[in-house]
Parts: sequence; structure tokens; C-alpha cells
Amino acid sequence: MQEIIIQDKQRYLELRYPFSSIPLLMEKRYCMQCKKEFVVEKYKVFRSEEGREVICCPNAPVCNGTVLDWYKNG
Ligand SMILES: [Zn+2]
Repeated sequence: MQEIIIQDKQRYLELRYPFSSIPLLMEKRYCMQCKKEFVVEKYKVFRSEEGREVICCPNAPVCNGTVLDWYKNG
């Protein structure tokens, strides 16, 4: 997968976040794949082989986690 650089990461979340409660960039999330906490603003976007843009864990591509693996602590 190829990384895509996003200029306005908040706007991108507003357009592409798959759930209704869109997080702010300063919020923290926990990745269930690599078991690490991160600041939302560090997320990465990769283009899949089918051409889909996927919001991923900041530790991608070492971590396979996507936005679907994000967990909100507390
Ligand atoms: Zn991860």
C-alpha cells in the first residue's frame, strides 16, 4: 500500500471517518493491533491495491491496524 500525505487531517476525518463520532486531532486513541496509544493527528492514510483510501494506525505499515481498530480509552 502506498502512503498518501494529507494536508488537512481534520477535514479528511470529517469526510472519510467511517463512524458518526468524528474525533478531534488532539484526542487520543488506542490501537488494538499494536496495543499502543496515539494522538489522532498522527494517523496515516494508505491507498489499497483496489484504490481505496484507508485511515491507518500511526505505526503502519509495521502495524496492520486501521481506523476500525481504534479504541477510545475511558
Ligand atoms: Zn497500531
